[in-house]
Amino acid sequence: MPSNRRLIKDLAAQRIDNLFRLAEANIHSNPSYSDRYVEMAIQISKRTNVRIPKSWKYFMCKSCHSFLYPGIRSRIRISPRRSPHIVVTCLVCGTTKRYPIKTKKQR
Ligand SMILES: [Zn+2]
Repeated sequence: MPSNRRLIKDLAAQRIDNLFRLAEANIHSNPSYSDRYVEMAIQISKRTNVRIPKSWKYFMCKSCHSFLYPGIRSRIRISPRRSPHIVVTCLVCGTTKRYPIKTKKQR
């Protein structure tokens, strides 16, 4: 039933958003909870084929699935070399992720 599947996807998206909010709320008091919430969000995303919103993707480590809260779990640097980009380093496993910064010319 297509409508049913849509409902499940809707619920999954809400649940993922909720889990990341919880992860954010717990990062200071219970950081291990935060990682668990991210883990759960990833599981839901995989099971339901619902993508994790881009805004939250900045907050998770691709390789160890930690909740990357800037300043606690991650280091964010802006690099002007080559094409300007943001470098996010996971302080748990050391993985780096690069996000290009779009300049006006490229748009
Ligand atoms: Zn990591």
